[in-house]
Amino acid sequence: MDERDLYKDLGVARGASADDIKKAYRKLARELHPDRNPGNVGAEERFKAVSEAYDVLSDDRKRREYDEMRSLFGAGSFRRSARGNAPPAGAGGFDLADLFGNGGAAGVPPRDAGRFGGGFSDVFGSIFSGGRQRTGPARGRDVEAEVALDFNDAVRGVTMPITLRSPGVCDTCQGSGAKPGTTPRTCPSCHGSGLVTHNQGAFSLAEPCRECQGVGTIVDVKCPECRGTGGVTKTRTLNIRIPAGVKDGQRIRLSGRGEAGERGGRPGDLYVLVKVRDDDIFGRQGDDLTLTVPITYAEAVNGVDLRVPTLDGAVTLRVPPGTPHGRVLRARGMGVQRKDSGPGDLLVTLEIVVPTNVSSAARRSLGDFASATEPAPRQELEDLARRRGGQHAAGPHAAGPHHGGGGT
Ligand SMILES: [Zn+2]
Ligand SMILES: [Zn+2]
Repeated sequence: MDERDLYKDLGVARGASADDIKKAYRKLARELHPDRNPGNVGAEERFKAVSEAYDVLSDDRKRREYDEMRSLFGAGSFRRSARGNAPPAGAGGFDLADLFGNGGAAGVPPRDAGRFGGGFSDVFGSIFSGGRQRTGPARGRDVEAEVALDFNDAVRGVTMPITLRSPGVCDTCQGSGAKPGTTPRTCPSCHGSGLVTHNQGAFSLAEPCRECQGVGTIVDVKCPECRGTGGVTKTRTLNIRIPAGVKDGQRIRLSGRGEAGERGGRPGDLYVLVKVRDDDIFGRQGDDLTLTVPITYAEAVNGVDLRVPTLDGAVTLRVPPGTPHGRVLRARGMGVQRKDSGPGDLLVTLEIVVPTNVSSAARRSLGDFASATEPAPRQELEDLARRRGGQHAAGPHAAGPHHGGGGT
């Protein structure tokens, strides 16, 4: 199929500098130029590939997007899409052109996003003939769909069926709109051309025929299936692969999985808007998972080994003595597992909980604790409060329980 490594096309390392890339390109372009290799199809193909690769890798923004794509899906699953003669990548192919959008997840319009939106696929296809290859049968329409994923599925990736509804040609009448066995007759007004011509002085203007709505034929006995429209709503179900690590609100493009093209034209693309449901326990920040774990004040002071859940089992985390409220511990590699880039981490935020229902024995112990430890270091604030107290005499009883005002 059409998997490729643009770095390999240019024969440079992934970390190659802009200068190295330019040099490699110039050398190859000279060697492979069609003028020097007349009739050599292999060289021409290579020349195209090299030009395309350079187009991406010489542009910082495109190169970044390409690297991100590869890191997300792995080298093997990348396919180029926007060439007129490329085979449709429908057979499980996964072409996520504007995964990261072009400056925002929702930024690219679904129709013709690749062609005009400057999305990722814009990168390809323009090179050789100086423009898009737009001749030939019409390309199928792009289709948009939405899927709701469970948190876990979004983190791990999932293959799921989706049902698409799209307009299609009526099978009963093959789109003619006429009842089977009957034939639409030629429109008498336009004689089948669908156009009527008005002469206005020196000009003649052609307008769609009103009698037949520009179709050229008139249906007397309508097809019962489509009521004469020739079209029906068709549903189809396909299995789509959602890669690990997709985010809520992200739009995924599946090349060639939109509507079929006309008369052998390429199919359109399918855009899937991903909604991710919240998890009861875990949150997400990019590729990191987040988790809040309550600990007691005693545990914060003395330290404790915590057993915390992960998506795959559990880990033990050491809370060192003297850990403050809000400290974040990191369990490396326990976050979103991406294919190519390293996995994310699990970020555990410690939250000291203050008990509200305390036995008198515990309260006495706490009193002992208080008298054996330093008071809170807020002397400076109290001094400031005393100085300001004079200006706002009515202030002090504003809010909160009074100091020392009995427990529950
Ligand atoms: Zn019909
Ligand atoms: Zn007509």
